[in-house]
Amino acid sequence: MAAKVLPFTKQQIEKIIAKYPTPFHLYDEKAIKENARAFKQAFSWNEGFKEFFAVKAAPNPYLMKILQKEGFGSDCSSLPELLLAEKTGITGEEIMFSSNDTPAAEFVKARELNATINLDDLSHIAFLEKHAGLPELICMRYNPGPLKKGNIIIGHPEEAKYGFTREQLFEGYRICREKGVRRFGIHAMVASNELDANYFVETAEILFELVAEISQKLKIRFEFVNLSGGVGIPYLPEQERIDLAAMSRGVKTKYDEIIVAGGFAPLKVFTECGRYITGPYGYLVTRVLHIKDTYKKFAGLDANMAHLMRPAIYGAYHHITVVGKEDKPHNIAYDVTGSLCENNDKFAIDRLLPEMEPGDIVVIHDAGAHGHAMGFNYNGKLRSAELLLRDDGNVVQIRRAETVDDYFATLDLEGLSKFKV
Ligand SMILES: *Cc1c(COP(=O)(O)O)cnc(C)c1O
Repeated sequence: MAAKVLPFTKQQIEKIIAKYPTPFHLYDEKAIKENARAFKQAFSWNEGFKEFFAVKAAPNPYLMKILQKEGFGSDCSSLPELLLAEKTGITGEEIMFSSNDTPAAEFVKARELNATINLDDLSHIAFLEKHAGLPELICMRYNPGPLKKGNIIIGHPEEAKYGFTREQLFEGYRICREKGVRRFGIHAMVASNELDANYFVETAEILFELVAEISQKLKIRFEFVNLSGGVGIPYLPEQERIDLAAMSRGVKTKYDEIIVAGGFAPLKVFTECGRYITGPYGYLVTRVLHIKDTYKKFAGLDANMAHLMRPAIYGAYHHITVVGKEDKPHNIAYDVTGSLCENNDKFAIDRLLPEMEPGDIVVIHDAGAHGHAMGFNYNGKLRSAELLLRDDGNVVQIRRAETVDDYFATLDLEGLSKFKV
């Protein structure tokens, strides 16, 4: 069972709301730090283990700075994400650049920062060389195709646009070796929100075996294996957390069997998790605007899918707490909605909740990854603020809410006044 508790009391959140109006995302610094330490500790058997926080999950430099202090790097996949890392003071091999369909300018920036480049395709070797030159360290992303099954978020590997086939990998490392690349890594990401520890052990095994085979065949040495992200979190209260210790033990067993016994050690193990690192420690705090009773009961919030679109796009479950009514009977089925003119703008459908009224504070759980980050402006919706609940109990605003001026910032209204039709 995953406990769905809040890191604040009703009085505390009312005080915060008095200063920062809803809706907003609130991150729990203490919990993020504790989780980061436990994650690192689980892999401490591997000298050189490093987690590169997947910036796309929560692209906020304050969060990135907290995680950097815990020894994490950044996993970036676009120019703005590279710039975020740079502005946070994360550079060089603290950055994993795992992109796909990559524009030349992004490779140029990644090279300028000395980031570790994780290539998505065989053709990108020549593309990178042409536009930014080849670095001394190259990683390649493997797509195991039919060897691995995917899930609803990531799809089936053989349908996925990512990565090299097995044959292409051998070819890729051979080409890079001939072009003078001396340091190598290998990467695979075939899971998303996966709660089965074994899944990652299998991925590690596949990658370790590839390291052994490619090293022998091409006489190159691998420095690291990047197991990537995709470690899941229990969105549902009845789900269990992934058994991180079992996952780490399983990976170590394969490491000993394949890497140590084969003479390929030392090999650093890297991860680039996003969801697991911040997901459970971010909360979307909103209020009920309207209660509507038609063919169904609706609780309309001041938040909408622009603030958290996972329920709308994946049908994802996010736990909901009505603050102060935790102990009241949860016996009314509500569709909990936002204000977007799209009928999938619902945080929950037929969710049994206590009776609600306008003004109630409603907290949506597990919004700390792929939450605010996926925000958009469709239908004139503005992204919310992000707040950080510090480990000393204070609250700082780490991103202000968008304003109408932000919405108009990309439009030339002066031009409009001169625009004749
Ligand atoms: C999205 C992504 C991640 C992070 O995924 P999580 O599910 O948040 O752990 C890591 N690496 C790559 C290449 C990704 O695309």
